[in-house]
Amino acid sequence: MLKQTHAHRMQLPREVVVGDGTIDEIGALYTRLSLNSPALVVSGPRTYDVAGREVVRSLSEEGVAVFTAIAHEPTLDEVRRIEEIARSKGVGAIVGVGGGSKIDVAKLAASELGVPLISVPTAASHDGISSPFASIKGLNRPYSVRAQAPVGVLVDMDIIAESPPRLAASGCGDVIAKFTAVRDWRLAHERNGEYYGDYAASLALMSARLVARNADRIGSGSREGLRVLMEALISCGVAMSIAGSSRPCSGSEHLFSHALDLIRPGGALHGEQCGVGAIMMAKLHRLKWRKIRGVLAKAGAPVDADGIAATPEQVIEALVTAPRVRPERYTILNETRLDARAAEELARSTGVLR
Ligand SMILES: [Zn+2]
Repeated sequence: MLKQTHAHRMQLPREVVVGDGTIDEIGALYTRLSLNSPALVVSGPRTYDVAGREVVRSLSEEGVAVFTAIAHEPTLDEVRRIEEIARSKGVGAIVGVGGGSKIDVAKLAASELGVPLISVPTAASHDGISSPFASIKGLNRPYSVRAQAPVGVLVDMDIIAESPPRLAASGCGDVIAKFTAVRDWRLAHERNGEYYGDYAASLALMSARLVARNADRIGSGSREGLRVLMEALISCGVAMSIAGSSRPCSGSEHLFSHALDLIRPGGALHGEQCGVGAIMMAKLHRLKWRKIRGVLAKAGAPVDADGIAATPEQVIEALVTAPRVRPERYTILNETRLDARAAEELARSTGVLR
């Protein structure tokens, strides 16, 4: 019998540019990546002013024909609308400019159309900047779906430094979440023989350690701190590309956040909720949860229910229902089935509830 081989596909960005004042380099990057004209620049109403206009200018100066589209909520309808604009203009590539949700819309539209995407984040708020996944509403699930990895990522630290501190604190929570996500992944491997990749896991963990070590600097908004955070977020996206799934970056703490989004949509930022989830899941994993809590506090990220605008009842319900959000994703919550009483005890013992 021939041994069955499993093809493992990794789709990685070809070029990542991170630096001060790099926004004018988008035109040159577009050319280096040999992308076809015209380009479609997708941004939000605010991010167009923050970075979109400069992106259009740089591309035009490079001789690339440019169309623009303003994206709104990250819904499937919005993805279809952008996709239709891109198709009707015959674009060679899409450039997504924004804090996260606009990049998600641009990413899924590009993927559906089969054209490359360049990602230009305007904030360090989550790891979708460079990942092959997109979070879109209207797909009957609160977690991200497979799209494609961007071919290029361009980060202008001048723009990131001007973004609201709350967004960076949230990004910090999304990276710190990797401490528990990687544990959950290993658990799924041990219990169910699920594929586990040491390299992807190590990359996600290294990003979390670097962010933990620089939490003070991120909290104070220093350039160095924000740069560490931005590079960590990009590395986490790459870890997902290498793993071929979101496993290295999304475990039980993300299930808690997704459950909370279903219970009370839009109450807090993704990374804020994942950070609070990580404190509690770390305790279940017998990790140093106090240390995780301390790191989040230093970064200015929320560490309790008030900080993520959730009532005690909502936190408890989210903990109890989290394993049902994504039943195929095995985590510590499958081993420690929390009923309402155990959930409340976990939240109280970690200071999430007082
Ligand atoms: Zn996340």
